[in-house]
Amino acid sequence: MIVDRRIVVRGLAAAPLFGGIARAQGAANLGPNRLVLLGNKGGPAIRAYAPSPSSNLLIWNNVPYVIDAGYGVTFKLVDAKFPLSSLRYIFITHHHSDHNLETGPLAYNAWAIGLKTPVDIYGPNGVDALLDGFFAGSKFDIETRMADEGRPDLRKLVTTHAYSEGPVFADHGVTVTALRNKHPPILDSFALKFDLGGKVIVFSGDTTYFPPLAEFAKGADILVHEVAYAPALEALAARNPNGATLLDHLKAAHTMAEDVGRIAKAADVKTLVLNHFVPADDKNLTDEVWTKAVRTTFDGPIVVGHDLLEIPLA
Ligand SMILES: [Zn+2]
Ligand SMILES: [Zn+2]
Repeated sequence: MIVDRRIVVRGLAAAPLFGGIARAQGAANLGPNRLVLLGNKGGPAIRAYAPSPSSNLLIWNNVPYVIDAGYGVTFKLVDAKFPLSSLRYIFITHHHSDHNLETGPLAYNAWAIGLKTPVDIYGPNGVDALLDGFFAGSKFDIETRMADEGRPDLRKLVTTHAYSEGPVFADHGVTVTALRNKHPPILDSFALKFDLGGKVIVFSGDTTYFPPLAEFAKGADILVHEVAYAPALEALAARNPNGATLLDHLKAAHTMAEDVGRIAKAADVKTLVLNHFVPADDKNLTDEVWTKAVRTTFDGPIVVGHDLLEIPLA
């Protein structure tokens, strides 16, 4: 094999940027600080490759944080050119499957491609059972590959941490704090605030209109907020025999576009990013339609989320 010396030199030159922070010698260079929207649909139904159920990647000082691990997160990370064996932290906002279905499989897929370092997974109560159940189902495969292929024990690399409202995480100069939001019938559902030391990013998680979230997100650089479009839901309900109940459920558990704008305005966030679109598969709901609905209550910058959209964090 011929090694291209220029690439080696460039790699070495880049190393001091992350020298004191990189988690291990030889850690991959994960590139510039950025937020990558991996999956942007609300709900678990799979009808197309994009948008996928909820997932996000945050890279800060060469440390990767995955926020939610809905179905498709592994492929979206591959598409985002993220080296899976560098997986380090996963945060789950609540235990709806459009946010957690691929949690165990993501850790597995990282292991299958060479993960040898710890992965810490933070989630509400139930996160232990989520991983224990996955490992129980995959026991035969994991143990076969350990014996047959000399792989480390994935179960020993993964540590789960159940969190509740309040402080969740502090390391690498980053703190993560949780606010219990309002997503009935789920009680353990949370918004998460990443204070990166220089930038603050808040993820609403799944929630109905919840004014305390504005206080929680006050002055944030980026608020990533779920969004639903009321006129489309009313049309959907009208076609459904259980329409009234369905509409009540959607309104009780999710935030309509105008109310997302109200939260962003009250929080005075620098940028509002829309994700977790409900509905996500209505071709009439263009970026302009979503923006216009939110614009009625928020006059700051609005980003309409798409899978693999990257937002630089200077
Ligand atoms: Zn959801
Ligand atoms: Zn949910």
